[in-house]
Amino acid sequence: MSLALYLLGNDLRLHDNRALAHASKYDSLLIVYCVDPRWFVPNRFGLPSIGPHRWRFIKESLADLASSLQKKSQHLFVEYGTVAGVAETLIPDLLPDVLLTSDTHGWYERKGLEEIQQRFPTLPLIFSSNATLFSCDGTSWLSNDLPNQFTPFRKRAETQDVPHPLSGSNSLPPMPSKNLRSNRWSIPDANVLPHWAATSGEFQTPFTGGETSAENYLRSYFSSELPHSYKSTRNKLDGWHNSSKWSSWLAQGCLSPRRVHGAIQNYEHKHGPSDSTYWLKFELLWREYFHWLAIKLGKALFSFQGTAKHAPLTSFYPERYKRWCVGNTPSPLVNACMRELSTTGYISNRGRQITASYLVNELEVDWRYGAAWFEHQLIDYDVGSNWGNWQYIAGVGADPRGGRHFNPDKQQRQFDPDYRYVKRWLIHDYESTTPARIDSIDAAGWPID
Ligand SMILES: Cc1cc2nc3c(=O)[nH]c(=O)nc-3n(C[C@H](O)[C@H](O)[C@H](O)COP(=O)(O)OP(=O)(O)OC[C@H]3O[C@@H](n4cnc5c(N)ncnc54)[C@H](O)[C@@H]3O)c2cc1C
Repeated sequence: MSLALYLLGNDLRLHDNRALAHASKYDSLLIVYCVDPRWFVPNRFGLPSIGPHRWRFIKESLADLASSLQKKSQHLFVEYGTVAGVAETLIPDLLPDVLLTSDTHGWYERKGLEEIQQRFPTLPLIFSSNATLFSCDGTSWLSNDLPNQFTPFRKRAETQDVPHPLSGSNSLPPMPSKNLRSNRWSIPDANVLPHWAATSGEFQTPFTGGETSAENYLRSYFSSELPHSYKSTRNKLDGWHNSSKWSSWLAQGCLSPRRVHGAIQNYEHKHGPSDSTYWLKFELLWREYFHWLAIKLGKALFSFQGTAKHAPLTSFYPERYKRWCVGNTPSPLVNACMRELSTTGYISNRGRQITASYLVNELEVDWRYGAAWFEHQLIDYDVGSNWGNWQYIAGVGADPRGGRHFNPDKQQRQFDPDYRYVKRWLIHDYESTTPARIDSIDAAGWPID
C-alpha cells in the first residue's frame, strides 16, 4: 500500500490542483495544513506577519476545503507547527512513499522545505506548479534567464501558451488506515494562539475565503460586462466593480491563475477580445513576474538596497511610521487609504501606490517597514507581489525609471476631487483633524547647542 503525504500551502483548492492529480497515483493520501506559530509573533519589524484579516480568510478557506474533502471521503488535518517541524514528526510515524507540495516562491518558505529534504534525503519530494501560469521544469527560461525588468518578460511571456487548467476533479485516494491522532480537522484554539487569533472578531470586509466563494465570484464576474470595462476603471481609488478583486483568492490558492486566465480566454471567445480583457491578462503577468522574481532574488527581495546600485536615502523614524500606519499624516488621502486598509484588509492598487510612495518619498521612511505593515494587513498578501511592488516604488527593484513618486495633492485632485473617498474613511471632519505636520517636534524646536 503506497502512501502520499501532501503538505498544503497557498493551494487551498481541489480544482486545477496538480499535487492532488499526482496524489491519485497512490493507494492512500494524508492531507495536512501547517499553522506556523511564527506567523503570530512579532517579526524583525515588530509585527506578526499575519494579521486578523488574512487569518480569518485562511480559516474560512480551510473550513471550505475541509468540507469539500469530506464530500470525497477525505479529510483535512490542521497541525500547529512549522512545516519542517510537522514533517519531522509525521514522516517517521507514517513512512510515506512520497511528499507532495506545491511550488513556493518565498525564500523562507523554501528554506523550510529544504530542511525536510536534508532531514529525509531518500524521501522523494515532488513540487507541483500550482501558483503560477507557467511552470518551472528546471530548464525553463523563467528560472534560468528571467529578465531584470517587466517589459521584456511580458513580451516573451506573451509569445508562450499558458497551459490549460486541469479539467474535472479526480477522485482521491482514501486516508491511510493507520491509526491517526484524530480524523477531524480543527483550527488551533485559544490554548495555543494569541487572543486576537483565537477569537473570530467582526470585520468589515467583503471577501469570504475558500474555493467555493472564489468559484461563485468568478462565475458572476464573467457573466457580467465587467471584463469589458476593466481598463477604464482599474485605476480608481475604490469601488468593488472597478477591478477584478481576484487577488485574495489567488494569494491563498483558492483560485488557480490558469483557471482565471482560461476564464478570460473563454470570455473573449464568447464576447470578443477588448483592451480590457487584454489588460486583465497583462496584470496577471505582473503577478507572474513578481513570483518568478521572488525566486530569482531569494533573500535580496527583503534587502534595503534590493537590486539597486545605491541604498535609498531613507531611515527609520518611529513616529512618522506609526502615524502612517494608523492614518494620521498631513495627507487626508493617505490617511483614508490607511484606515481602509486596517478596517478591511484591502485597498486598491492606486491606494497602495499612493501610500507606499508617501512613506518613502514624503516621510523618508525605510520602505521595508511599509512592506511589513502591508504584509500584516493585506488579505491578498503574497510575498513576491508585495515585496516586489514595494521595491519597485522605493526605486530598488525592477523599475527602469528607478522608483515612483506619486504627488499626494495631485492624486487627490485627480482621483478624489470632491473628497468623497476621504470623507468615507475619516471618522471626523478631515479639515479639522488632519495634522499640519508629521513630526511632533519640528527643526525649530531643537536646541541649538
Ligand atoms: C505597494 C504594493 C503592494 C502590493 N502588494 C500586493 C500583494 O501583497 N498581493 C497582491 O496580490 N498584489 C499586491 N499588489 C498589487 C495590486 O495592488 C493588487 O494585486 C491589486 O490591487 C488587487 O486587486 P484586484 O484583484 O482587484 O486587481 P486587478 O486590478 O483586478 O488585477 C487582476 C489581478 O492581477 C494581479 N495584479 C494586478 N496588479 C498587480 C501588481 N502591480 N503586481 C502584482 N500582481 C498584480 C493580481 O493578481 C490581481 O488580482 C501590491 C501593489 C503595490 C503598489
